[in-house]
Amino acid sequence: MSERTGRSDALLCGDDAAAAPCFESYPSRSTEIGPGFRVRRALPVREHRLVGPWCFLDEMGPVTIAAGTGLDVPPHPHMGLQTVTWLLEGELLHRDSLGSEQPIRPGQLNLMTAGRGVAHSEEVVTPAGGTLRGLQLWIAQPESTRHGAPAFAHHAALPELPAGDAIATLLVGRLVAAESPAAVASPALGADLRVGRAGRLSLPLDPGFEHALVVVSGSLEIDGRRAEPGALHYLGRGRERLEAPAGAGTRLLLVGGAPFGERVLMWWNFVARTPGEIAAAREDWQAGRRFGPVSGYPGARLAAPAFTDRFRR
Ligand code: MN
Repeated sequence: MSERTGRSDALLCGDDAAAAPCFESYPSRSTEIGPGFRVRRALPVREHRLVGPWCFLDEMGPVTIAAGTGLDVPPHPHMGLQTVTWLLEGELLHRDSLGSEQPIRPGQLNLMTAGRGVAHSEEVVTPAGGTLRGLQLWIAQPESTRHGAPAFAHHAALPELPAGDAIATLLVGRLVAAESPAAVASPALGADLRVGRAGRLSLPLDPGFEHALVVVSGSLEIDGRRAEPGALHYLGRGRERLEAPAGAGTRLLLVGGAPFGERVLMWWNFVARTPGEIAAAREDWQAGRRFGPVSGYPGARLAAPAFTDRFRR
């Protein structure tokens, strides 16, 4: 996924974790990430630009793929973050500058670690008439790993466990006795939760983590209030459990983590610490340095937008 920023200044993120449990809802906003390809961006929001190390959450689709319609995201760079791709319907093809060429289908996880720099493309390979629906998230890398080598991992299967009347699929982190194979550098949780018939979500949480969720379908009730689709629901810190009545067919993504503890700058597809680092990465991309080519992609790569060397709080 590539951020199609209309902004030429970077976004300063950090220091906004709530100390106690809360329930705050922020509407997602519609944004275009490729020609004709709109997504709902749930994170960042002004009040919470990070949830643990999670710094970006896009919900795409459901969209019906028309014949001859490309919904591709052409080659573009990343730095200082990990991309997490999780599909609910359809199929994508990931290519990157490490030489990876990996189809991804529902139930599988793609985790790309950018470190000092990587480039990738995402092609919609869902057949015409099929439906594409999924989520892409970014995890900010801490100082200890953000200058490291890029990497790519595809996890064809993930741990599943009961969570009350729900089934939880563990994308990132630990839940009860299960541990995701996805390698992340900060304490974090990412879980897909779904109920068939109406019931109750019930799972333990790490009270040291802040948590947030997006409802993909259905709805649930948290602290006596409804959590609907189309919003980021921020739950704060200090919760020992999530106990939530859920309607039939409810599906949601829960993310969390220890407050990140580092202030980061986000701009376009980069997570950095200073405007100078962003300016250098942009120049390297424009000049064809650092990130490497994505071979096999049938088309041109994305050009970086203008950057003004500033940031906003
Ligand atoms: Mn991307």
